[in-house]
Amino acid sequence: MVEIFNTRKDLLQRRAEIQTSTGFVPTMGNLHDGHLSLLEKALNEHETVFFSIFVNPKQFGPNEDFSRYPRTFEADVEKLQSVAKKFPNKKVILFTPRAETEIFPHEENQMISVHKLSTELEGKIRPGHFDGVATVVYRLFELIRPQTAYFGLKDYQQYMVIKQMVKDLVLPIKIQGMPIIRETSGLALSSRNQYLSPEQKKASLLLFETLSELKEILKNQKSEIPKVQKKIDEKLQDKDWDYLEMRDSETFSRELSKSKNISFLAVYRMGTTRLLDNMQVEVE
Ligand code: AMP
Repeated sequence: MVEIFNTRKDLLQRRAEIQTSTGFVPTMGNLHDGHLSLLEKALNEHETVFFSIFVNPKQFGPNEDFSRYPRTFEADVEKLQSVAKKFPNKKVILFTPRAETEIFPHEENQMISVHKLSTELEGKIRPGHFDGVATVVYRLFELIRPQTAYFGLKDYQQYMVIKQMVKDLVLPIKIQGMPIIRETSGLALSSRNQYLSPEQKKASLLLFETLSELKEILKNQKSEIPKVQKKIDEKLQDKDWDYLEMRDSETFSRELSKSKNISFLAVYRMGTTRLLDNMQVEVE
């Protein structure tokens, strides 16, 4: 059984009763197998797992899809129940705030901002996005105080921002990155995929195929970096790329001479839908 809490007061009361090890999975709901893979991992590692569903207004820009972001609470709870059933001796506690004020009780003067990392790539295109993410995740960490929090590598830059926040604020929380779950076609699962028409869905495979192609060229061969960069420059002739970049996976630097692992990070626009994906490759 999944326990459900809607207010910070009730959640804090329940949290105070829990003495066992605790994992945490923050989400915006409209759950798919990517989200559920985080829950399963957390349940494998902890006695109690907190799971949050909150469409965080602070991470959406004024012209983004906050109001039409898919909200499918009942189906989400069913999916959580079916995973929870596989772990009969563990606790799954869902926090789904009934109002924004349960997380942001007043118009605060302070946001958490992880400099530099937050203003590049996705952050450059969506100013303030990562401040909104870091702030809500910090608030949730403060309420739930987990030992481990689970994040999908699908949102690689977000994972990096959260890791940096935890390091900078010296929070006693382990951040666990989890592999991207994909459709058999290769398309990374995302709540936003449902905005795509069947034709767009087919066409969107270009994103996965491009990342795979770049990864294949670079595989184990640092000397191929210039060739890969040339290929990227050719691809960027297509103006539907918001970005397609090669970065050091640890430092996010463009300087790759000392890199052991390199990330390809991309957003491809399909109509009004932005498809976000990335791949990592070892280069030693
Ligand atoms: P969201 O609800 O989109 O904010 O995502 C909540 C968490 O699920 C984040 O840590 C995401 O990175 C993760 N996630 C989303 N899609 C996937 C996926 N396809 N595979 C693995 N994790 C994912």
